[in-house]
Amino acid sequence: VALCEAEEAPLARSRPRVLEPRFNWTLFWQFLRPHLLVLGAAIVLALGAALVNVQIPLLLGQLVEIVAKYTRDHAGSFLTESRSLSTHLLLLYGLQGLLTFGYLVLLSRIGERMAVDLRRALFCNLLRQDIEFFDAKKTGQLVSRLTTDVQEFKSSFKLVISQGLRSCTQVAGCLVSLSMLSTRLTLLLMVATPALMGVGTLMGSALRKLSRQCQEQVAKATGVADEALGNVRTVRAFAMEQREEERYGAELEGSRCKAEELGRGIALFQGLSNIAFNCMVLGTLFVGGSLVAGQQLTGGDLMSFLVASQTVQRSMANLSILFGQVVRGLSAGARVFEYMTLSPGIPLSGGCSLPREHLRGSITFHNVSFSYPCRPSFPVLRDFSLTLPPGKIVALVGQSGGGKTTVASLLERFYDPTAGVVTLDGQDLRTLDPSWLRSQVIGFISQEPVLFGTTIMENIRFGKVDASDEEVYAAAREANAHEFITSFPEGYNTIVGERGATLSGGQKQRLAIARALIKQPAVLILDEATSALDSESERVVQEALDRASAGRTVLVIAHRLSTVRAAHRIVVMAHGRVCELNGVQAAAARTLHKSALGKGSGDSPQPSLLPA
Ligand code: ADP
Ligand code: MG
Repeated sequence: VALCEAEEAPLARSRPRVLEPRFNWTLFWQFLRPHLLVLGAAIVLALGAALVNVQIPLLLGQLVEIVAKYTRDHAGSFLTESRSLSTHLLLLYGLQGLLTFGYLVLLSRIGERMAVDLRRALFCNLLRQDIEFFDAKKTGQLVSRLTTDVQEFKSSFKLVISQGLRSCTQVAGCLVSLSMLSTRLTLLLMVATPALMGVGTLMGSALRKLSRQCQEQVAKATGVADEALGNVRTVRAFAMEQREEERYGAELEGSRCKAEELGRGIALFQGLSNIAFNCMVLGTLFVGGSLVAGQQLTGGDLMSFLVASQTVQRSMANLSILFGQVVRGLSAGARVFEYMTLSPGIPLSGGCSLPREHLRGSITFHNVSFSYPCRPSFPVLRDFSLTLPPGKIVALVGQSGGGKTTVASLLERFYDPTAGVVTLDGQDLRTLDPSWLRSQVIGFISQEPVLFGTTIMENIRFGKVDASDEEVYAAAREANAHEFITSFPEGYNTIVGERGATLSGGQKQRLAIARALIKQPAVLILDEATSALDSESERVVQEALDRASAGRTVLVIAHRLSTVRAAHRIVVMAHGRVCELNGVQAAAARTLHKSALGKGSGDSPQPSLLPA
């Protein structure tokens, strides 16, 4: 039995060997507790089934005894004599089937419910983690904790209860009946079985290793295919189909070699273990037969012994598989629980909020310094001070990588400053409710808007869950989006495709603007909102942005001057600090900008050209 296991081992993901988290028993207990009653019932049923299994070989032996008697004497009625025994056996078979059915149903009920609870709790806690957590983790890794790890933990759990319990009981029970049948034969078995099991375990672990390598190779091949299919446009554009085919083919070839090697290994194992098991049967028959001949054992008892010893061997083989499964299940469980206990530095909610009518939307950065937690030695902002007066538009320009987006992230409270404070209407952001801040105060529009793969309606409503249809239409109109939306045959019910793949850049951006505007934010952050657009879409989007900016506190982040013409104030950032322009310089900058446009160049001069 141990043989097939190598083949069925769940997909081993190639995971870098980092410090393995420890299994959290306390947390596991919390998830298990609601199911204790059902679990108890399942355990009772499983134990019952195992005990019935122990009974069966004994009765079979008695039946054989009767058969043997009739082979000798041919007197009396075989049917009458064997009837009660047969009925008894039939009843036991039925009972065994029923018990098995019962505990499997109960276990799958517990397993599935626990898996749902685990996934829900993990997802919930993952969503609450700090942005810095996501900076450091790969999405694929997080998703695999939700899927594969929970799956593996669940199946191990079920297996331990069903197989583990049954196998242990059967081994114990059968050993008792074996020693009652014949002490001498049992001793013989006790010597032979562990030796064979040892060899088998060694071979099994070699096979497991091989199977892991095999799966890693398959994963590698899948990775190549995944990358090529996912980036098919790039592959097509470079006419690299042939090369990708070859790459995939080479990886497939590699996995074929490994798989065939594994196949040979399994075949050898299977063959050898068949020989071993058969030899043990023969050995038992031989030794047992001589005992029968010496009248120390009846034929029926020998039969019982054979069946029971087979059960012991099967159960022990099961247990050895189970051991591997337990190890894998515990480490999968540890990975699931690891992120469940993690608490974020910036909680999602909690803290005070300002009543809407008193909210002015004045923002100040006081001597803020900041470096990203994953790169602590690299200061992005140094002693950065900036005021966004209420209702005014401030433009922030500067080189790419200068820290402009970082300023916006601090305002959204994705991170907290390393030093200094950011205030809203004089209140430290850290004392305010982050959820309130993000959902009601600040509207954020970034360079690459991300939409969800649902309808346009739902995407806009993402900004305000309880918005009425009218509010959605109004926001879309304000964002210059209503027209193109209604030109689609499905209108607002158009599905935008994965990440909004079926829309143009300008359309996506206008939906993102509508989504931000629907919450009527007091503060609007436009982070290079038009820089990825062509000049025609830029004009439409800019028009929407200009309209949306009226009466709000706006921070416009840009590296093109065309975006900042409406700004009341232009601030240049360099080396994580502000070099502010005075009024004359700003006017000069605007003139510079106009003359740049006059020359017919769509692109404006680099901010570094500005007088600082
Ligand atoms: P800008 O928006 O002005 O182009 P950013 O604020 O995006 O600049 O980035 C400023 C600096 O911070 C860059 O050097 C960038 O490499 C670094 N940086 C940006 N985001 C992260 C992050 N999540 N983790 C670590 N470093 C980052
Ligand atoms: Mg940026």
